[in-house]
Amino acid sequence: MKFSELVVCFERLEATTKRLEMFDILAGLFKHSGQKDIDKIIYMSQGQLLPAFHGLETGMSEKLLIRALSQATGNDNGDITKEFKKSGDLGLTAEQIIKKKGDGLSVTDVYNELLKLPHITGEGSVEKKISILSNLFSASSKTEAKYIARFVIGRLRLGVGDQTVLDALALSIGDRSHKPDLERAYNLCSDLGLVGKILLEEGIEGIRKTKVQLGYPIRMALCERLPSAEKIVEKIGRCAIESKYDGFRCQVHKTKSGVEIFSRNLERTTLMFPEIVEGAKRHIKAMECIFEGEALAYNDATGELFPFQVTMQRKRKHGVEEMAKEFPLKFFVFDLLYVDGVDYTEYPYQKRRLKMYEIIERNTVMEPSETIITDDPEAITKFFEDTVSRGLEGIIAKRLDAPYSAGARNFNWIKLKRSYKGELADTIDVCIVGYFAGKGQRAKFGVGALLGAVYDPDSDSFKTVSKVGSGFSDEEWTKLKEMLNQTAIGHKPARVDSLIEPDVWVTPTYVVTVTADEITRSPTHTAGREDEEGYALRFPRAQGFIREDKNPEDATTVAEIIEMFEMQKSMKV
Ligand code: ATP
Repeated sequence: MKFSELVVCFERLEATTKRLEMFDILAGLFKHSGQKDIDKIIYMSQGQLLPAFHGLETGMSEKLLIRALSQATGNDNGDITKEFKKSGDLGLTAEQIIKKKGDGLSVTDVYNELLKLPHITGEGSVEKKISILSNLFSASSKTEAKYIARFVIGRLRLGVGDQTVLDALALSIGDRSHKPDLERAYNLCSDLGLVGKILLEEGIEGIRKTKVQLGYPIRMALCERLPSAEKIVEKIGRCAIESKYDGFRCQVHKTKSGVEIFSRNLERTTLMFPEIVEGAKRHIKAMECIFEGEALAYNDATGELFPFQVTMQRKRKHGVEEMAKEFPLKFFVFDLLYVDGVDYTEYPYQKRRLKMYEIIERNTVMEPSETIITDDPEAITKFFEDTVSRGLEGIIAKRLDAPYSAGARNFNWIKLKRSYKGELADTIDVCIVGYFAGKGQRAKFGVGALLGAVYDPDSDSFKTVSKVGSGFSDEEWTKLKEMLNQTAIGHKPARVDSLIEPDVWVTPTYVVTVTADEITRSPTHTAGREDEEGYALRFPRAQGFIREDKNPEDATTVAEIIEMFEMQKSMKV
């Protein structure tokens, strides 16, 4: 496919705010993509070179991009910078200063050149990168240059979320009834480009045959909520009860050639946990396997487990060794998904668990999560209270005969968390979609409250649920503003549904965990809005800082808010 054809679609996507129109544009694009290009087209329309778990970054800054444009056009760096300052969008600047018609680049030409960027390192790498880009600009038309420029600095924001791609892929072969099959395949490999490729090469039959593969993270299974031990037994009967650890979720892939670890939002976090890498090599009795658990920093002297925020300090790229000494690690393994050629995700919990016990050798870092099996609400309550008294978050009940539900939040796993009087039984994760300039005391930070939204997978959009103005320290507000300004845009983002106009709109990027007193009906928020009323959080306050282990789509969903509202109503009577 010609890159110019792809760019025409990008322009159409940018111009529309209607979801259905977006599905149509993308479905048409995918239909005409061809087997060779489909994966590249999917990645590029999401502003990526490969799925996030590859951890690739072009490493281009605005400054370098300006130099590349200058090299390609002969314009002076300073003049280009001046132009750029007017609009704040280097894409528009590129469009303005490129005068040629373009050499008819293909999608593959552009993609292959861009894919070189993250791999260029070491001496002279900056010059090499600039030269690749300037050659691309020299061969492109105005509009092509606009999108290449935005792409390389991570500003190609067409609003194409994962769910939108899945809907459009389904539509490209008929209708949305194919979406569940496509979604299942995606949940097993977390690679939409691969899903697109299999679909074009092998059809929907090929999609249905997709299996777990080592090195491709499996999208993580999640919990539903219920308010009490009685309700849990009523719902799933005899079940396994495990402690809910407040740490960092790790999916570990042990292969013959090494170990990789993926986080909750499927980023590669291998370097953060050297002890788990070592432990997997030495103490897991399988050549190849995939298992999951929760990693927590702990106090070696007292055995006390530290909360999430402490474990997160390991995320620093530097000083991992020192951190490992200061905060040793415990890794509580709770599931097994693949062992030596066998996909375990289809097997029931108990079978997965038995195999898990079999392959973990006794060692000091890794151990199976604590668990009991019971159908007695009193025993569950006692386990819950013991767990909470040790400072853990609560418990998770797991259905004994359930498979591992990749990428799904359902009643196969049910969480029951500790909560305080007058507080919601669970925290809410909101995605920041805008902020308000501070008044009074806050004026000095330039940000006084955030506009938080929850996620609606059906429309692949974010709907507002709360303003969040407390819970951060002065330092955190300052840092937040800096981070948010990097993602600020001059208008409401395509995937945001809001009746409120914040002072600054930001592209949905960051998630914050919020506690609140209760969920109320509200005419001002769009989450769950029907008959003029949506849902809102009463007295929200942030807990911790940005959830780096969550993507925007990992925010609490609209359906969960409605469910929690109903649960809260039933608790009051
Ligand atoms: P949060 O991490 O904010 O609680 P979440 O949306 O990531 O929310 P939930 O569905 O609420 O996930 O709960 C599942 C999470 O609980 C997992 O992502 C995992 O990190 C953590 N966890 C702790 N202990 C266990 C356990 N024994 N089994 C499964 N998950 C556990």
